[in-house]
Amino acid sequence: MDAPVCPHCAKPITRALDLPYGWWEWTGDGYRLTTASERVDVAPWVHWDCMGELRSFHPHDVGVPDVHSAGAVTAGPAAAAAAEVGG
Ligand SMILES: [Zn+2]
Repeated sequence: MDAPVCPHCAKPITRALDLPYGWWEWTGDGYRLTTASERVDVAPWVHWDCMGELRSFHPHDVGVPDVHSAGAVTAGPAAAAAAEVGG
C-alpha cells in the first residue's frame, strides 16, 4: 500500500511530524525557527520532506493496523479506556 501524497510537494508522506511549531536550529549566530506554522491555528501535522502543513491529514486515518499490534502505544489513559471497552 502506497503512502498518501503530500498536497504541497507531491511526494509520499512517509513521515509526518507532530510538531507544527517546528524547532529552533543553531545557526552560529543564534537560533532560527523552522516551522510550518503560518498562522495561529497551526496544522496538527506536517510533512517531513517539505514542512508543508497537512491540515486534513491524520496518520490514524490511513491503514493503521490493530492498535494492539507490536509497536503501537499501549500505555496511557486512552489505551486503558480502549481495553475496558474491549472487555
Ligand atoms: Zn510535502
